[in-house]
Amino acid sequence: MGFAVASSTLGPTPSPPCAPAPEGWSHVPSLAYASELATTAALLALVILARYFVIAGAFMALLWGRPEAKVGAVRLAKRRPDRREMLHEIRMSALSSAIYAVPGAIVYLAWSNGGTAIYSEISGIWGWLYVPLSILFYLLLHDTYFYWTHRAMHLPALFRSTHLTHHSSRQPTAWAAFCFHPWEAAISAWLLPAATFFVPIHQGAVLFLLVFMTYCGVANHAGWELLPRAWLKAPIGRWLITASHHNVHHTNYRTNFGLYFRFWDRLMGTDVGLAEPAAEPRRQPAQPSRRAAAAR
Ligand SMILES: [Zn+2]
Ligand SMILES: [Zn+2]
Repeated sequence: MGFAVASSTLGPTPSPPCAPAPEGWSHVPSLAYASELATTAALLALVILARYFVIAGAFMALLWGRPEAKVGAVRLAKRRPDRREMLHEIRMSALSSAIYAVPGAIVYLAWSNGGTAIYSEISGIWGWLYVPLSILFYLLLHDTYFYWTHRAMHLPALFRSTHLTHHSSRQPTAWAAFCFHPWEAAISAWLLPAATFFVPIHQGAVLFLLVFMTYCGVANHAGWELLPRAWLKAPIGRWLITASHHNVHHTNYRTNFGLYFRFWDRLMGTDVGLAEPAAEPRRQPAQPSRRAAAAR
């Protein structure tokens, strides 16, 4: 199968300038590994943060930086974003980016030495078919883990110490994508990096997932519904989670816990449907066509 490639073909050739590369896990306790891990994690945190700023910044500019009539989306937020709330969301998202970077750096260093199930070459029809299937598997795995840990963090015993930070945004903005307490960020950070040691996935699929996850986090908190309303009633809207679904969770706390798919919410009876628009999208008054105006 396309993903069953020799470990020598996995990842770039390791050539750290001063610290010897760790071989598998045998050097984990060494100081050289710790320093390489710290450097890699710091660089990765900057990459994660840059990705967050680009995607969330684009959403903010396109949704709130233009007259509402020109935005091709339905507004769910009842008021404009508050500056103090946005700064809080950005501060906590920056902290989460640093936390996400640690398991990411462990995977990167292991991948550099051929120690993960991340592969680089695809061959044959089965190899190509496996790529979307592996992406779907990772999304389903993440979604399932998120749903149940999310519900657990809503238990009174855990809520204050883990999840309250995220819910401080009653009306979240795109900046709230990674706005988590460090405990919550740590709980959510390890699963997919750990999966890359066991479940084969192409390096391009890893990049796709990283961008897609950030996009979903931003879009679901943006306060605007991007899907056309007809699509919300179609299978795509009935099974995928968008801002209309997650907005309800930020309003009532007790339903709509999912991340990508509505499957678990529907199965467990926690899906109460979608948020209503804050206001009907303003209709442009019908303009007479140029030809009609000229004929007058
Ligand atoms: Zn949220
Ligand atoms: Zn919650």
